[in-house]
Amino acid sequence: MQRHFRRLTAAIGVAAAVAVAAPAAVAAAGDDGPAVAGKGPAKSGLTAAQELARPAFKMPFRCNQTWVGSNWSGHSPAHSIDWNHYDADGNMDDLGRVVLASAPGTVSASYYSTGDGYGNTVVIDHGDGWQTRYAHLKTRAVSRGDRVGQGQKVGQVGATSATGDFTPHLHYEQIHGGSVVVSVVQGVTWGDFLKREQVSRNNCG
Ligand SMILES: [Zn+2]
Repeated sequence: MQRHFRRLTAAIGVAAAVAVAAPAAVAAAGDDGPAVAGKGPAKSGLTAAQELARPAFKMPFRCNQTWVGSNWSGHSPAHSIDWNHYDADGNMDDLGRVVLASAPGTVSASYYSTGDGYGNTVVIDHGDGWQTRYAHLKTRAVSRGDRVGQGQKVGQVGATSATGDFTPHLHYEQIHGGSVVVSVVQGVTWGDFLKREQVSRNNCG
């Protein structure tokens, strides 16, 4: 998918590519995570109590960085967000950027996946059934069992995957009860097929 985006970006210019839902329009089935069949449009499926217990997730990037997120049609698993960062000229410059914990917790997994497309992936357990996943990392800075604070470095943005070939981006999931749900990041609900910019308020001191 990201390869399509890069071609499209080169062809029509980044400003336009960012403004339209380009990745969604060209997305092929299956990319960088295990397939989840039969997911419909955005519904968290959570009870009010579960929503209340959702941690106050922040963007997984350094304070004041602006990233373009996309919860695109055909993304796998459904509801995941792919994040990209652009330089002043509108070129993607994600590789090596620091990835931060979205909320405090305990690292429940940190590994290179050969069983699916996640590549270097970190999962943080936040309690009450809530987890976040950070995938395709260039490097992992934490190990299973580590306790992490909100805004603590967990790795760097990369393009690793045993099954896919991507341009660098961060694949991000909020998980409840083992299922990927619609993310809520700094008060923004990332409903299905949403693509927009957001400014990180993580670890702003
Ligand atoms: Zn993804």
